[in-house]
Amino acid sequence: MFRLSPLLRHRAAFALLPVVALVATGCDAVKKLPFVGTKATPAPPVVRASVAPPPPPQIDYAKVRPNELGKIPVVMYHDIGGIPPKREDGLHRSVAAFEQDLKLLYDAGFRPVNMGDVLAGKIDVPAGKSPVVITFDDARESQFRLTETATEQRIDPQCGLGVLQAFHKKHKDWGLKATFFALPKGPKTADAFKQVGKGDEKLQYLVANGFEIGNHSLNHRDMSRMTPAQIQAEIGGAHNSLMTAAPEAKIAVVALPMGKFPKDKANLKYLTAGTADGKSYAYEGAMLAAYRPVDSPFNKAFDPLRMERIAPYDKDPNGLRNWIVKLSASSGGRFVSDGDAQTVSYPQGEQAQVNTARIEKAGLRTNPYVPFGGTSGAKPIVGAGDDSPAKADTPKPIVPAQ
Ligand SMILES: [Zn+2]
Repeated sequence: MFRLSPLLRHRAAFALLPVVALVATGCDAVKKLPFVGTKATPAPPVVRASVAPPPPPQIDYAKVRPNELGKIPVVMYHDIGGIPPKREDGLHRSVAAFEQDLKLLYDAGFRPVNMGDVLAGKIDVPAGKSPVVITFDDARESQFRLTETATEQRIDPQCGLGVLQAFHKKHKDWGLKATFFALPKGPKTADAFKQVGKGDEKLQYLVANGFEIGNHSLNHRDMSRMTPAQIQAEIGGAHNSLMTAAPEAKIAVVALPMGKFPKDKANLKYLTAGTADGKSYAYEGAMLAAYRPVDSPFNKAFDPLRMERIAPYDKDPNGLRNWIVKLSASSGGRFVSDGDAQTVSYPQGEQAQVNTARIEKAGLRTNPYVPFGGTSGAKPIVGAGDDSPAKADTPKPIVPAQ
């Protein structure tokens, strides 16, 4: 059974977080780290009917079997390090368990992307690999801790970010990507990541190094019964504070505290658009707490306002370990990339699930294919008794009308 109650206790756990400075055991200095994040890709060109589109990806369709309408796991972390409670609660992950999660995901063919990339349809992972989003909630100190000497600040290798960076060093094709749903410094709240005076610098470091900042409200309150003004004060207030701290941030998504949605459906619109203190915010989506993978943004089933996440349980059937197994099965239905971020490939039989409007909005091409054939691409199916030879050996892209 899925245990929800520990997640609901999450606010209390957050309030009790101790502020502990750990001793650095050696890793990169903050200011000396090379830029390893993927640079922002320019907007894709609009494909018009009069211009011949680029060919579809030349991959072995029978082997790769791309399915870019499939499911994407979004993993939700809170505290990294320390000794987790005996009864796992989905909120505490030891460093060893977090490293093991990353290794299991890596070995199962997952590669990280940011949540904003999913919402924008910019899912850039190699052919045959699957996207995963690593998220951290609350901007807890255990996610990003600095230790200082007289001359430098080092990222603690035992914090969430330190573990990610070490994993990237060992596995270069695991990019430095993650989304931090950060609680910002406010009138009643401490610095992001809790080390006094370092919140802004940390948020700026994350943005400069390819990570993403998400909104998690200002005061981490249950929004289910809030008025429109209260919701906008929480989300817009957090937006303004985060943008003041890290002006280069591109905030695209909000994660609702404790996964609580406004009960009044008329108020849902304030999750993604509103105004606070004279400044507006406009987001692409909203996230819940648990407990299933999200649909591909190219699938009609995708609901950007109700995106779920997966908690890092070892034993729970709805926990991360079990989802890795389920999504790795041949019937798991996970998103498998064709290796071309401009093309959305899927087996031809899935046509009814295609979210054409979203794909066109993102400036991408669709590429339905028949999942048989060799290295030159999918081969068309020829009807029984049809003597005419197959004419094409590559799938034909559908180009939007002018
Ligand atoms: Zn939270």
